[in-house]
Amino acid sequence: MAIAMEEKIEAIYQQVKARNPGEDEFHQAVKEVLESLGPVLVKFPEFAEQKIIERICEPERQIMFRVPWQDDRGEVHINRGFRVQFNSAIGPYKGGLRFHPSVYLGIIKFLGFEQTFKNALTGMPIGGGKGGSDFDPKGKSNNEIMRFCQSYMTELYRHLGEYTDCPAGDIGVGGREIGYLFGQYKRITNRYESGVLTGKGIGWGGSLVRTEATGYGAVYFVREMLKVRKQSLEGKTCVVSGSGNVAIYTIEKLQQLGAKVIACSDSNGVIIHEKGIDLQMLKKLKEVERRRLADYATYHKDARYIAEGNIWEIPCQVAMPSATQNELNGKDAKMLVKNGCIAVGEGANMPTTPEGVHVFLHAKIAYGPGKAANAGGVATSALEMQQNASRDSWSFEYTEQKLDQIMTGIHQATYETAEEFGAPDNYVIGANVAGFIKVAQAMVPMGLI
Ligand code: GLU
Repeated sequence: MAIAMEEKIEAIYQQVKARNPGEDEFHQAVKEVLESLGPVLVKFPEFAEQKIIERICEPERQIMFRVPWQDDRGEVHINRGFRVQFNSAIGPYKGGLRFHPSVYLGIIKFLGFEQTFKNALTGMPIGGGKGGSDFDPKGKSNNEIMRFCQSYMTELYRHLGEYTDCPAGDIGVGGREIGYLFGQYKRITNRYESGVLTGKGIGWGGSLVRTEATGYGAVYFVREMLKVRKQSLEGKTCVVSGSGNVAIYTIEKLQQLGAKVIACSDSNGVIIHEKGIDLQMLKKLKEVERRRLADYATYHKDARYIAEGNIWEIPCQVAMPSATQNELNGKDAKMLVKNGCIAVGEGANMPTTPEGVHVFLHAKIAYGPGKAANAGGVATSALEMQQNASRDSWSFEYTEQKLDQIMTGIHQATYETAEEFGAPDNYVIGANVAGFIKVAQAMVPMGLI
């Protein structure tokens, strides 16, 4: 029975590959989830009968559009805009927008697919979607960013709505971009529809803790994984890749919980600061001045900057990949394990390659995959929507407590699901199975949708 199931799932995967040629990241994300689902189909035969896997792998809607804009010199540029509305079985599509030159349909589809299960794990009523553009915000002026965002929203607004699709930020999209996008949405629709975008400013419908949420949540997840192993973050040496929003607030929470963060990175290189990363300096450099990480070393003479360095070569006990997809490969994973790493918590989406994941699982270290560990961001977006719907705004402490409860709940659900499906301590299986069942159980009673 089990063998037949695995064959059936392999056939579905081959079909997904053939139908979506050239979309490597999407194939990778689908494969990882499908590999977990054999025992689920045995337990819930109706999922196979109703072709739930086949349906879940096909986005409900995919939107691609032209985004023309003018730079400060008056030159015209054309970018491509995307929004993939993946699954709305448990709520309106929800997921961020990524502005990065690497963006193409395959990246947005992998992110939207992951988002569907991640959002299900939060326990909040949000479906999965993702969007973005191959626009490169690096080096652009505020006015250029504004014009781009206005042009992007001028097409996208017709596909959005607080009960339809509610984007937020991702790589290259933060508070500034959400401001321009919200302004344009409001202007075109003539509606103050707060819940349509999350990550808004505090004075106009945003939620406290949203900025910190992905990083804080990832650290809470690691705290919970360590708790099961009768360990804590106190005194642990950590490395955090990236230096964007997720990395900064991962470092902040690690430091608050008594861990020592000795390195972070950007796409140009790595900063090693054995004394511990100076978070105030990092925030000033990245959040206020929008500069490169290399400049950190000009302020701290005892810090080392390694151009093109590999952060995973630095010995640590806890590693938190918080930059981007496939940033940690099989070789890196082996090095981390060899150097004594006991826990990995993914702040980024799919940062570890399949080979790397295999190494971590085989070594039996505590490995928290992104769709569970980084769900705190989108969970707090759902809390923002909740505040918007009730025209309320909550305190920092109250919101953070909610985030902590949600992350603790995700840890428990993924841990218990892994055990129930015969894979104790395997949070990959726990997250894939728990997320899938939640979405599938909503799809079945709704009929053929
Ligand atoms: N982009 C974030 C993620 O990967 C957040 C999405 C949201 O808040 O809607 O989950």
